Amino acid sequence: MSTKPMKPLPKQQVKVDLSDADTMKCQKCENPIFIQGYIIKRISAIVSPTGQEVIAPVQVLNCGNCGELLPMGGELDELI
Ligand SMILES: [Zn+2]
Repeated sequence: MSTKPMKPLPKQQVKVDLSDADTMKCQKCENPIFIQGYIIKRISAIVSPTGQEVIAPVQVLNCGNCGELLPMGGELDELI
């Protein structure tokens, strides 16, 4: 009687069907095209953990038409 060697299960490939995915649109003008932008946060040396001033870019997406920020959820809204 032989026991089959335990093989690690192959990682399941997650197939993403984009035709089923929602297209996010601008809340204001329903434009589906967004452009990439950055909010630059400057952390002053006083509150920085390193004791040095830190420049931290935060990536955001703006509506390519009206410039409305795409809500990414989470803490981003508080950052701005
Ligand atoms: Zn817009």
